[in-house]
Amino acid sequence: MTPEQFDTAIVGGGAAGLSAALVLARSRRSVVLLDAGAPRNAPAAHMHGFLSRDGFPPSQLREIGREEIASYGVRLVPHSVASARGDVVDGFVLTTDEGTEFTARRIILATGVEDVLPDIPGAREAWGRFLLHCPYCHGYEVGDRSLAVYGGVPGAVVQALLVRQWSADLTYFTNGSALADEDAQLLHVRGIRVQDGRIAELVLDGERFVGVRLDSGDIVPVDAVFLRPESRPRTDLVVALGGSVDGAGFAHVDASGRTSVPGVRVTGNLVDPRAQVITAAGHANAVAMDVNADLVDDDIRAERRMPR
Ligand SMILES: Cc1cc2nc3c(=O)[nH]c(=O)nc-3n(C[C@H](O)[C@H](O)[C@H](O)COP(=O)(O)OP(=O)(O)OC[C@H]3O[C@@H](n4cnc5c(N)ncnc54)[C@H](O)[C@@H]3O)c2cc1C
Repeated sequence: MTPEQFDTAIVGGGAAGLSAALVLARSRRSVVLLDAGAPRNAPAAHMHGFLSRDGFPPSQLREIGREEIASYGVRLVPHSVASARGDVVDGFVLTTDEGTEFTARRIILATGVEDVLPDIPGAREAWGRFLLHCPYCHGYEVGDRSLAVYGGVPGAVVQALLVRQWSADLTYFTNGSALADEDAQLLHVRGIRVQDGRIAELVLDGERFVGVRLDSGDIVPVDAVFLRPESRPRTDLVVALGGSVDGAGFAHVDASGRTSVPGVRVTGNLVDPRAQVITAAGHANAVAMDVNADLVDDDIRAERRMPR
């Protein structure tokens, strides 16, 4: 069967992918959006910091986004893209996990990141509810409560100094790592307690967070723990298309999300793991405008029978 052809294929239907689809569909481009349906903020019941939608359920934001892009004729495919091939001259081919192929002149990858959680009991259950990564997303809601920072990971001390803005009742768990003198002084100056010992478990009792269990067996009661997890970019499709990535796996890109592969752009958390919903959507909006401009350029070349 001949694959369906589109001006642009977007992989990923979180804030970034949906935002790009809206701009391109409103530019009267044919768009297919393929989405595996596992956005990063799925565990969070509420989304904060998005002007006019503060506290809105993120799942509803995406639902509205899907309705909006569908109204402009975007083809929504609720499947994962398993492989990608091709180039900007002959076109790109995306194949879903069920074997359906779609071809496109341009590709936007908005596949996000995977947050790697500590391999201890309770971490997964607490994630997005009591184990939090972003004070800008959740800090206000736990303000003045008894908070903790999960130490022994890159950036943990900096995170503790930041989280202190939301509560004076803050404990830094070293998690078995040694604190540099300078870091210990900074924590001291900010009135942040230091708790030694390795973290063995995040203890929940049903819907209640009990605290942090250390390997000594002691449980230190706190209301929430902040952690800076490693964020692994889902750049496998960039690599499959021949794109280059850095040591952490992020694609080499310019300010417009252009990868090293002509015709392939990345956006959202895939470019910047710190991007909030509003920032991811904003970057994708700009990327989509650039893609439309590329396509206009292509159309002109085709009309003048010029090589690409
Ligand atoms: C617990 C938690 C709470 C958060 N709270 C907030 C908050 O309150 N406010 C805020 O602004 N931000 C918050 N964030 C950050 C927010 O999640 C990100 O800013 C946002 O999700 C980035 O959007 P994105 O479109 O780049 O990626 P995502 O939303 O992660 O979307 C990526 C999509 O791509 C899909 N995908 C991946 N691979 C494939 C593939 N091969 N084929 C097809 N589809 C694929 C995924 O299934 C997913 O649907 C929170 C994050 C977490 C972890």
